[in-house]
Amino acid sequence: MSKQKGTIGVTTENIFPVIKKFLYSDHEIFLREIVSNAIDATQKLKTLSSKGQISGDLGDLTIRVSIDKDRITVSDRGIGMTADEIEKYINQIAFSGANDFLEKYKDNANAIIGHFGLGFYSSFMVSKKVEIVTKSYKEDSNAVKWSCDGSPEYTMEKCNKSERGTDIIMYIDDDCKEYLQESEIDKLLRKYCKFLPVPIAFGKKKEWKDGKNIETDEDNIINNVDPLWCKTPSDVSDDDYRKFYHELYPMADDPLFWIHLNVDFPFHLTGILYFPLIKNNIELQRNKIQLYCNQVYVTDSVEGIVPDFLTLLHGIIDSPDIPLNVSRSYLQSDANVKKISGYILKKVADRLNAIFKNNRKEFEEKWDNLKLFINYGLLTEDELFDKVSKITLFKDTDGKYYTFDEYKTLIEPNQTDKDKQLVYLYANNVDAQYGFINAANQKGYNVLLMDGQLDVAVIGMLEQKFEKSRFMRVDSDSIDNLIVKSDKKDDNPDNDGSQMLSAIFKSRMPQMEKVEFHVDSKPLGQTMMPVIITQSEYMRRMKEMADIQAGMSFYGDMPSMYSVTVNTDHKLIQKVMADASNMCNPSVTPIDEEIEKLQTRVSELRKAKEGKKDDEIPEADKTELTEKQKAIKDKEKQKDDIYGAYARDCKIVNELVDLALLQTGMLKGKALDEFIKRSIELI
Ligand code: ADP
Repeated sequence: MSKQKGTIGVTTENIFPVIKKFLYSDHEIFLREIVSNAIDATQKLKTLSSKGQISGDLGDLTIRVSIDKDRITVSDRGIGMTADEIEKYINQIAFSGANDFLEKYKDNANAIIGHFGLGFYSSFMVSKKVEIVTKSYKEDSNAVKWSCDGSPEYTMEKCNKSERGTDIIMYIDDDCKEYLQESEIDKLLRKYCKFLPVPIAFGKKKEWKDGKNIETDEDNIINNVDPLWCKTPSDVSDDDYRKFYHELYPMADDPLFWIHLNVDFPFHLTGILYFPLIKNNIELQRNKIQLYCNQVYVTDSVEGIVPDFLTLLHGIIDSPDIPLNVSRSYLQSDANVKKISGYILKKVADRLNAIFKNNRKEFEEKWDNLKLFINYGLLTEDELFDKVSKITLFKDTDGKYYTFDEYKTLIEPNQTDKDKQLVYLYANNVDAQYGFINAANQKGYNVLLMDGQLDVAVIGMLEQKFEKSRFMRVDSDSIDNLIVKSDKKDDNPDNDGSQMLSAIFKSRMPQMEKVEFHVDSKPLGQTMMPVIITQSEYMRRMKEMADIQAGMSFYGDMPSMYSVTVNTDHKLIQKVMADASNMCNPSVTPIDEEIEKLQTRVSELRKAKEGKKDDEIPEADKTELTEKQKAIKDKEKQKDDIYGAYARDCKIVNELVDLALLQTGMLKGKALDEFIKRSIELI
């Protein structure tokens, strides 16, 4: 064959500037593409040999990557190409509508490369000239050298090459010199080619000898040709799985569980997914799954391919059936990808169910770490609830674990309220809510520990899933009101005593920004605390949701409302009541009498108004009613002032209020200091 010249068959005038310009950000993938081609050529050779279409020994099939001054060479001993094949596969690039296409996908090099079989041409992203020196496995074929300097013109001529296979020689561009550094190529080979199925040698192994790093005769093989996920699960030991995990994530703790994926139909997918030990931050742990296509690394961004919550897992997914070169939105609607995502979800759920069944103890031991995945999954993946509802666990404040069903059976007898609603009590901080938990336990109630990052949201979800059930935090009401078992008659009609008590304690509640206290007195039994501060479940939860969810800031801005219940059964409170009556009654009784008179007059005036139109009521009556009403208010204020003055100097009241605040974590700063000093004085 004499030297042949030609123009590469693309419709665009000059494709190379386009390749360089648009594929800029992904330059480094040229190496992946060229090495993948070498792998393909080698695999094809092996296939032909196994079918008996090539006889004899195939020899050493190692692919060699080398750097030599201004060029990188990738050599394989695969099937090679004849001149005709170069013409067909390299010169005639199917490239219709190139401009439109490039415009559309200019930010996504993968899309262009995969879609148009431009793998080989990606070498021009980093090269000013590329040569192919190749000799086909076919008998009597001549070796061919193809050369192209980045213009659409190429040359092709016969050359000398004794061995079968292909050398791709890339003369690296002046502005891509970093690729001539050994460390850079080493990094890229390890990133993209670490698990390719044919040995890849990058130079020779080095050894320290006499204080120098000297090359040995041994090839420096950068890949593991038989990675764990390609093996049959029954041939792999637990240790192998752990070792492989640490090969992938050298810094990580041991994983909790793993799942070996292996499916042939209706799509091909292999891989290993690991449940990592998550310590706290969800976001930090994302994107640790690596996606491979026939052992070639593609990306570590797997959103759309696995269900969202599983992006928290680690490991490898390898599938030739995931269309890698398309946009994410297309990916999500792809039928294959949907099936894959569903399959992975099912596999994960099956595996967890199996561990639960076979070794509940181990499952419980790992639950605290596993919980975050499951909860996140329950919140984001509708389908998951049915798949894991039998193995999702509750943990109570004593550290015991229960399935949903077990827990329901446990609490049903004692925690069902008068409306037949099952009340799940929970705490989110055992230390802070200790007193409340204790009180609940004494009543025979069980208290769940819900202290996870996602528990606020999970509680809301469970209330919708469980029938006739609600969740109450132990400190959201006084113990008798948490689970109301019968319609209580108000056995303590609002007598003077309780009104007085409320006024006394209200006057000592601290002024805090965005905090309101509603004070009430009730008999709660002699053993209950004298003063209890609670926050309504509903309000608190709305505020908690506002913290983690956008669009709820309305609740976040509202004041926090607390109920303060003064226990009229408690000894100390009765003491306050007796003492306060003694001290205040002389000044309060006359005021009460006046109030009573005023009220009688107000009732008369109201009665006289009844059934009359506004203009039929005498002006004088209207004025008097307003005046009397105002007078009542003033008198009430006078009373409050008297109680306030009493309360200010009453050590018991101040001490009890502070103790209640202390128990709910609200006593801080100056108030805490004052409390401590007063307590010392009292001792
Ligand atoms: P793709 O690999 O997607 O088909 P490429 O542009 O990378 O597209 O390669 C085009 C064709 O050139 C390949 O399909 C293959 O037939 C041939 N080819 C490329 N590299 C080699 C090689 N190292 N050995 C043999 N054939 C090769």
